[in-house]
Amino acid sequence: MRCNACWRELEGRAISTTCGHLLCTEDASKMLSNDAACPICDQVLSKSLLKPVDVNPNDEWINMAMAGVSPQILMKSAYRSVMFYLGQKELEMQYKMNRISGSVPAEM
Ligand SMILES: [Zn+2]
Ligand SMILES: [Zn+2]
Repeated sequence: MRCNACWRELEGRAISTTCGHLLCTEDASKMLSNDAACPICDQVLSKSLLKPVDVNPNDEWINMAMAGVSPQILMKSAYRSVMFYLGQKELEMQYKMNRISGSVPAEM
């Protein structure tokens, strides 16, 4: 997963927004010090709705979080996670396309 604002690879902690974007903690705090609008879609966000997520949860954590959860709920949340992941990939693709078409200067 990558930060949707600066596109660096996320490690450890990231912030997920209510509009479905993923930010590194740096961009999230930058955003909150300004007017709290999402840098990607301009949706106004409130601080209390930003959710810190672990980008690389360890197996122990996953097992603990998933223990006792019914398969129906697991499937539902798996579906949501997959949709979120696909959305992320699509954003990343758009970003790359923009870079190729020259609207954003390409880094070498
Ligand atoms: Zn960032
Ligand atoms: Zn957004």
